[in-house]
Amino acid sequence: MTFKPQSKNKVFFVLLLLFAFLATPDANAQRKKRNKDKKGDTEKVAPKKKSTEKSIADLTKKSKKIEGLFTIYQDTITGSLQMVVTKEQLEKEFIYFSQIKDGVSEVGAFRGAYRGSKIFTLKKYFNKIEFVAKNTSYYFDPNSALSKSAEANISEGVMASLKIEATDKEKGLYLIKADAIFLKETLSQIKPPRFPGRGPFSFSLGNLDKGKTKINAIKNYPENTDLVIEYVYSKPSVLNGGSNAVTDGRNVTIKVNHSLIQVPDNTYMARYDDPRVGYFTTQVTNMTTPSVTPYKDLIHRWHLEKKDPAAAVSEPVEPITWWIENTTPLEYRETIKEGVLRWNIAFEKAGFKNAMVVKVQPDDAEWDAGDVRYNVLRWTSSPRPPFGGYGPSFVNPRTGQILGADVMLEYVHQTNRVIYDKLFETMSAFSYEDIDKAENELQKFNKQYNYCSLGHLMHENSVFGNTALTLMNASEDEKEVLRNEGLTHLIMHEVGHTLGLNHNMKSSQLHSPAQLADKNYIQGKALTGSVMDYEAINVTNDRTQQGHYFTTTLGPYDLWAIEFGYKPVTTYKELDDILKRSTEPELIFGNDADDMRSPGKAIDPRVMVGDLSNDQITYSVNRINLVNEMTAKLRTKYSDYGKSYQELVVAYSILQGQKSSALNVISRFIGGIYVDRAMQGQVGGTQPYTPVSYADQKRAMKALKDYLFAPNANDVPKDLYTHLARQRRGFNFFGGPEDPKIHSAALRRQMGVLYHILHPNTLQRIVDSELYGNEYKLPEYMRDLNKAIFNADINTSVNSFRQNLQLAYTDMLIQMLTGKVSGRFSNVAKSMAIYNLKTIRRFAANNLGDLGTKAHKMHLKTLIDNAMKEIK
Ligand SMILES: [Zn+2]
Repeated sequence: MTFKPQSKNKVFFVLLLLFAFLATPDANAQRKKRNKDKKGDTEKVAPKKKSTEKSIADLTKKSKKIEGLFTIYQDTITGSLQMVVTKEQLEKEFIYFSQIKDGVSEVGAFRGAYRGSKIFTLKKYFNKIEFVAKNTSYYFDPNSALSKSAEANISEGVMASLKIEATDKEKGLYLIKADAIFLKETLSQIKPPRFPGRGPFSFSLGNLDKGKTKINAIKNYPENTDLVIEYVYSKPSVLNGGSNAVTDGRNVTIKVNHSLIQVPDNTYMARYDDPRVGYFTTQVTNMTTPSVTPYKDLIHRWHLEKKDPAAAVSEPVEPITWWIENTTPLEYRETIKEGVLRWNIAFEKAGFKNAMVVKVQPDDAEWDAGDVRYNVLRWTSSPRPPFGGYGPSFVNPRTGQILGADVMLEYVHQTNRVIYDKLFETMSAFSYEDIDKAENELQKFNKQYNYCSLGHLMHENSVFGNTALTLMNASEDEKEVLRNEGLTHLIMHEVGHTLGLNHNMKSSQLHSPAQLADKNYIQGKALTGSVMDYEAINVTNDRTQQGHYFTTTLGPYDLWAIEFGYKPVTTYKELDDILKRSTEPELIFGNDADDMRSPGKAIDPRVMVGDLSNDQITYSVNRINLVNEMTAKLRTKYSDYGKSYQELVVAYSILQGQKSSALNVISRFIGGIYVDRAMQGQVGGTQPYTPVSYADQKRAMKALKDYLFAPNANDVPKDLYTHLARQRRGFNFFGGPEDPKIHSAALRRQMGVLYHILHPNTLQRIVDSELYGNEYKLPEYMRDLNKAIFNADINTSVNSFRQNLQLAYTDMLIQMLTGKVSGRFSNVAKSMAIYNLKTIRRFAANNLGDLGTKAHKMHLKTLIDNAMKEIK
């Protein structure tokens, strides 16, 4: 009822405004004058006003002064902040960086998470100070006239505009209130946006609660001003209160460390990215060059300067100093230190001795790991480990110089617990439509923060290794070797990230399967070209030939990449000479963007995770055979009197995981293309694209037929199923029935591969690459696949695993023709789908087999007949 009068008032107000605008300029001027007079009058009447203009000293007398890069005053009664900006600081560039001090992993805000750095400047606009974020993505050659238009269509971000509360003209100081900068999300967004597709029942933060948000600490140094702010997000009620780690879903705290940092003034020279080697970069585009590759992407690297520039190898003026956090279990510290220092071998080749130094944070240290001045090897045991290991660094966005880094490690990865367990999940209905969705979202998220999943993979590998050793009756000492190698590898890998290196998922091609299974040959050698890979654990089928489980030595690629990034050079030619070696087989490189872990994503089967050796098919088949042997022994080995069956469940799950991983590696050869990123004319370079040979694609198909699709592919001893029981904890079986979901787990493994080999991208590539050398043509491939899934039991009874597989596969063929994604398939693929469906229809019509098989065949016939009616 009150709505109408209000809106009438609104209309009246608008009319009034309109009138004001339409009024003559004279009238406006008069009004302005009147206002001015009024002001003047007050000044005259109350001359005190002028003297009440307070000085900085007046406004800060109740405050504690904290001096540093930006002097901060904190009110001793209310805690509110004021900040001094000096005249010299105006228009100067500063670096802003933030990291999560503590939070909840549900929203990606976990301890130690880096939030990136940016350049900002302070500008004075009349009586205000502005905080303006600068765009660093473009380069304009100052000698080009175009540089005068450098600001065209490039948006700056005005983050805050704050009134100057007091001025000291003599010293050139301006005082502003700073609560609005630090107690809000002014400098960076903290509460993440909701991912599209996440329903209203997913966990999310409430609104920023100004009343509860507060300052935890202020640390001021000559080169950086740091503030730790505790942000509280509140809402009155929640649908989803989050995990156990969230104490009260209505009031969630995220602590953020903000750093305002002086831009370093040094002799650092930016170095530019090259496609043949893998560094993290800050992307910069040259806007004043006619080049087709106007890239001036800055690689991220530390500022190392030789103490003695004339020496071939010299200590650096300032080494990269690491601190082992005082939370680190004592028994790991030596291994961690050694792992870090192994990188010094690479730096020596680049001309630096003792480039890395490792110290231990004293238990009574007055600084904590969140302090940007320290690079810390951190250790946590958190409830929901958000990463496998994490080696973030932050840079000066203008140059790419790394200014600080940490390594985060999670205790759970040193244990034999399994974090994710698919064995007890039922498989949701399969749909081609979801084929890209889930993966892409995750990848984008990971890419944004450069997360590393190696810890998760290493953990699975370690548990597998441990299971293998248990089954082989190995001693505790042997298990200790495995643990140490795993931890060393993980440390070296994460430290590699902090040196600027991104992943090299192609480097596991270094040795042949026979070499890896030769103890004498492999001893002391790197297993892969780079520690920056996600390779399989090297467990040999023949136990007497067991060498290294994990790579614990820098590979040739690592040495070469550090040389490219860090060797002091004076000419581009020196760098080019290093880059020209990229065609050496042991320096082969491909990063996450090229890796094939997601179905349909990339093209080179050598750029894969969970693989090892230069014959991945053979190595993977060996692994599957080993897993099958181990599975048969599980029950007798895991029979500790008095214990529950939890360990057996873990061991079984991890074996199945290894099998899935091996099968995925094999599947990537079908329709695969080898990529060569050598520059034209480079010695040793081939053509950019070479299809996988006919023989290898056939070999991959045969392996999938024998180890994934065959009627006996999922056989395990029956008495294993009767013992796959998790230990009950409280009411945890309320989440779903507790029995192992055996068929779901088997089908998930098969579908994981089918997702890739029937992905529209893969099928399209098979046809396209027939034009440039692929001899395993689509019709032959699709017919082979059909045979692999149907031929073995055409004339006999079809077991329940095969029935599931045959139906799911038939449904995929139908979706290629009539599903929502059918538009993504070429006509060649669709024709073969029809051909295969008709073949299946013919098989199904033979009506042989037991009653269940007859019903299954009737099911197939019904699906196909109905689908055929829909095909236009
Ligand atoms: Zn990594």
